[in-house]
Amino acid sequence: MRELSDIDVVGVVGAGTMGNGIAQVAATAGYEVVMRDVEREYVERGLDGIDDSLARLDRKDRLDEEPEAIRERIEGTTDLDPLAAADVVVEAAVEDLDVKKEIFADLDRVTDDDVVLATNTSTLSITSIASATDRASDVVGLHFMNPVPIMDGVEVVVGERTAGEVVEFAHAFAEDLGKETWESDDKPGFVTNRILMPWINEGVRAYDEGVADREDIDRGMTLGTNVPMGPLELADHIGLDVVLDASETLHDELGDRYKPAYLVKRKVEAGDLGKKTGKGFYEYE
Ligand code: NAD
Repeated sequence: MRELSDIDVVGVVGAGTMGNGIAQVAATAGYEVVMRDVEREYVERGLDGIDDSLARLDRKDRLDEEPEAIRERIEGTTDLDPLAAADVVVEAAVEDLDVKKEIFADLDRVTDDDVVLATNTSTLSITSIASATDRASDVVGLHFMNPVPIMDGVEVVVGERTAGEVVEFAHAFAEDLGKETWESDDKPGFVTNRILMPWINEGVRAYDEGVADREDIDRGMTLGTNVPMGPLELADHIGLDVVLDASETLHDELGDRYKPAYLVKRKVEAGDLGKKTGKGFYEYE
């Protein structure tokens, strides 16, 4: 299924922050979607997130259809078998290489031979994830940005063995979901996180070392460098566990300049993961 016109069903693995956003944009673009997570509770939370997001977009008149019509195209499941119907799969499960390899071995088994298998990994090697399959040439990085329904960009990441036609398909598919793309080689952190993660960790260190209070660090960077969010607010938005996993991978691969800030680790240990738990560097309702 390398032609967009052959794609009817999009499989999404993981119903968390990114998975439910990817499912939403795929359904909004007119595809049938199968979204799988490991527990019914996580699937339901993901579907609730989609309902809320669609309702918000509808209030702003940004949907071409009724939210219910879009939502009806999304099936949530905890089973692996429904993914067999997928013509392309985007994996957005936790940032853990062993988990992703297990998922890709399963996807290799349950999906048809010519189905493109994409991963939304932030920092892990596409080539390593692909090695869990017998079809590494079909595996590509499709790195969506958070929040998926709002952010325009998708980074296409080319693994060591990704086929050229699969790279082309990845760009075309992301564009069909209303996104603009750029391409990165399969080097740690790709373009975005290689640059973003040290920026966030430095913001956290600046806060921890008393350079300024949290608001002034974020205001300094938004007003001073014209970015929409400062490092502490953005870390909360991404999820501090996700920031820590990504930083640790980059630290392992690229050395000390990528060392995660101590305070990120301490907050993850305390369960203060940012917006999703109601508390990170800031508090949320
Ligand atoms: P999340 O913690 O919100 O969601 C991950 C989901 O994966 C959870 O619901 C979990 O139950 C599920 N899961 C775990 N094992 C699974 C399995 N075997 N099968 C199906 N589902 C499984 O995480 P997230 O923020 O959505 O991140 C998902 C991926 O996207 C990660 O690889 C992350 O690095 C990447 N990413 C995250 C962001 C971000 O800003 N949060 C941005 C870009 C990319």
